[in-house]
Amino acid sequence: MKTVIGLEIHTQLSTETKAFCSCKNDVYAEVNTNICPVCTGQPGALPILNDQVVEYAIRAALSLECEIHEISSFDRKNYFYPDLPKGYQITQYFHPIATNGHVDLNNGKRIRIQRIHIEEDAGKMFHSSETITEARSSLVDLNRCGIPLIEIVTEPDMEKPEEAREFMEKLRDILRTIEVSTGNMEVGALRCDANVSIRDKERSSSRVEVKNINSFKFVQRALEYEIERITEVMKNGENVPQETRGWDSLTKSTVSMRSKEAENDYRYFPEPDLPILVISKERIDRIKKELPELPDEKAEKYEKTLGVTRDNAKILAKDKTLSKYFENAVASGLSAKDTSNWIVNEVLALFNSDSTEFNHERISIDNLKKIMDYTNSSKISRLVAKEVMAEVYKSGKDPDTIVRGKNLLQVSNENELISVVKEVIAENPDTVAKYKSGKTSVLGFFVGGVMKKTKGKADPKIVGKLIKQLLDDEN
Ligand SMILES: [Zn+2]
Repeated sequence: MKTVIGLEIHTQLSTETKAFCSCKNDVYAEVNTNICPVCTGQPGALPILNDQVVEYAIRAALSLECEIHEISSFDRKNYFYPDLPKGYQITQYFHPIATNGHVDLNNGKRIRIQRIHIEEDAGKMFHSSETITEARSSLVDLNRCGIPLIEIVTEPDMEKPEEAREFMEKLRDILRTIEVSTGNMEVGALRCDANVSIRDKERSSSRVEVKNINSFKFVQRALEYEIERITEVMKNGENVPQETRGWDSLTKSTVSMRSKEAENDYRYFPEPDLPILVISKERIDRIKKELPELPDEKAEKYEKTLGVTRDNAKILAKDKTLSKYFENAVASGLSAKDTSNWIVNEVLALFNSDSTEFNHERISIDNLKKIMDYTNSSKISRLVAKEVMAEVYKSGKDPDTIVRGKNLLQVSNENELISVVKEVIAENPDTVAKYKSGKTSVLGFFVGGVMKKTKGKADPKIVGKLIKQLLDDEN
């Protein structure tokens, strides 16, 4: 059995105005306020291409290692739907702006990009019921009509659902770094349709397209579901019809939407109202020079020149604000390796724990530095440091105030610790016996006991030494 997965991705470009008119590119405005004769398809209205769209499309295509075509053109894709008042969508079907790119996954596998083209978004429907078949009425908001998109089409180079997810995450990180899109899947700024088919020795299933995937997690879940479903159908000796299915995030399953339309159903023809798009070599070179460092390049720099582990480097480099935070922390004199561990293991864990995006204001570099200094100078234990950081994250208080206020300084005074150590030893005669029979690995158990009793405040090194002394003395 071999699974073949390809993706078609639509990204909204964050330009000031729409693709072919001067309406604001703002999907959050009050419904049907950012509209004009052009984007609502009134007779006689003529489109004019927004040059910022071209600029962003080139930036994205170069970042995805594509070849930019000095000449490309626009076409009409004809279909009827209430969210498309013009009756056609302007796209680049015959001559796209860019082709032949790629993104490399972290394991080195190359996912080829077949093409990138510019097109416009359609409006948005609101149905009076959860499911379209039950809806008695539907409303339409045309603010989204004409918002610029680029469509990115991959070759079917992925074999596993997690590869598709990784590809989407890497793509989002790149689009955000080059500032052409928010890459936000949850609000539809980045949308993904997945094509999947399965082959075994004798036969191959038809290609099934899965739509409506609206989160990175669901890219993987929807594909896992679909692969299982197709495999089951094939096992039963039935045919897998070529169709379009929709991912339903409530039932965590896919449902058949329609049999897949063929490309020639759309009656593509060249857009008569727009000139061909000419891009000079100079322009391509200038944009190439202006591109910021991409996540993979940045990660390599962190790994090679700063000695950060590969895993940490990848995590820090993928988000612009996060990498800036890390670089500023290192510039303030903190050790790169140490800081990378703190950020990845402790700081990010806090943001992940309540699913919020990283925000450097929650734990300032000053406060991170204070907590790291406390720990490195053994004034507080790592365990207490975590507690202090969580408190800073929650309340925004200064670490000094927290440490003093809660009396968290590490106890390294042997006289203060010895009574607790004795207590722990007295409470665990069985473990003491084990130790005496030569099982010295139980030492850690005693240290853990003391740390628990002192709420993490004891200096584990001193505790270890004391326990060893006491147990060995009894011999
Ligand atoms: Zn408009």
